Amino acid sequence: MATEGLAVSEAPLAYRVKPFARTADLGPRPPDLPVIRDAAAGVAALLDAISAAGGTGDARGASDGGGGLAVLTGAGMSTESGIPDYRGPSGALRRNHSPMTYQQFTGDPAARRRYWARGHAGWRHIVDARPNAGHTAVAALEEAGLLAGLVTQNVDGLHQAGGARSVIELHGSLARVLCSDCGDVSPRAELEARLAAANPDFRPEAVDAGVSGAEEPDPTDGTDGGTDGGTDGGDGLPAIAAEGVEAPAAPGAALTPAGRVNPDGDVALAEAEIARFVMVGCRHCGVGRLEPDVVFFGATVPRDRVTAAMDVVERSRLLLVLGSSLTVMSGYRFVLRAGQLGIPVAIVNQGPTRADTRAALLVDAPLGDILPPLAAELAVSA
Ligand SMILES: [Zn+2]
Repeated sequence: MATEGLAVSEAPLAYRVKPFARTADLGPRPPDLPVIRDAAAGVAALLDAISAAGGTGDARGASDGGGGLAVLTGAGMSTESGIPDYRGPSGALRRNHSPMTYQQFTGDPAARRRYWARGHAGWRHIVDARPNAGHTAVAALEEAGLLAGLVTQNVDGLHQAGGARSVIELHGSLARVLCSDCGDVSPRAELEARLAAANPDFRPEAVDAGVSGAEEPDPTDGTDGGTDGGTDGGDGLPAIAAEGVEAPAAPGAALTPAGRVNPDGDVALAEAEIARFVMVGCRHCGVGRLEPDVVFFGATVPRDRVTAAMDVVERSRLLLVLGSSLTVMSGYRFVLRAGQLGIPVAIVNQGPTRADTRAALLVDAPLGDILPPLAAELAVSA
């Protein structure tokens, strides 16, 4: 745990996911920052960067045959699976969503009802999502023994569905439910079945689906909201976020994204639907409060998980960031750590990231165009 001197936190191995008002707007890239936008050129540059870093061979001090690539993925990884990200053109934050904090969730029964009603409405989108070519390619890199490890900020389970075997889920997983009283861990599918039985008349289409997850926009960026007024929208996409346990900042706020507000009372309908939503208790103890196994804003990422993810970076020869704006400290800190250790960072993301100026290579192209050929080239040369 050589995290001493990590400049970004006083508690390097356990950190608090801070609430925030709105999204931190990264703004445009500096005009002189070289960015590769052509997919083929991006693949070639990535191969060069990996080669220059010493290849994908044995990780530093590897005793397990692990490879040299640390992979960190974010919401952009899953957009090609139909799950909108937070900050993209159709991102949830641009639809005026704010995340529910852990304090709100635990302190307010109405907030929990809202969370689970919206989660129940959104669960079908998660269940329907399928891994894309990028997930499959990352799994192929793992299969070929080229990864020091795979760390994801996503809570959708799509890496595993795409074949990855060892995934550090930094923010947990939507697929698991925890009981705060007895500690029972149960499959989300089991809870969903009980919720469906308890709410036979539930109309998920009437409820703005806030599907849980977690992301941690860093408030120290000085963009405390208001820069991204959230008045756009009208994209017709389901209001779902793969990252970020979200709930309205004010009652109804998240229920009125542009494009969803109908003169016939859509908002009132959704509120009524949430108000009569019946939550069920723990299957084991009956009385416990159920929580998704995800890291809320305002909650703490388990220490062993942070340590494991940091170990992946520290063992690696190159940190490859895929589909993350790195706006949140939970991901950004790994870039900082890599920088401290002289480990180069390559970023493939559509749009600017917080770490652009710290990257050795920036590729702005769809992951589905980059990862399959990259994995094919690397697997051949492995
Ligand atoms: Zn229980």
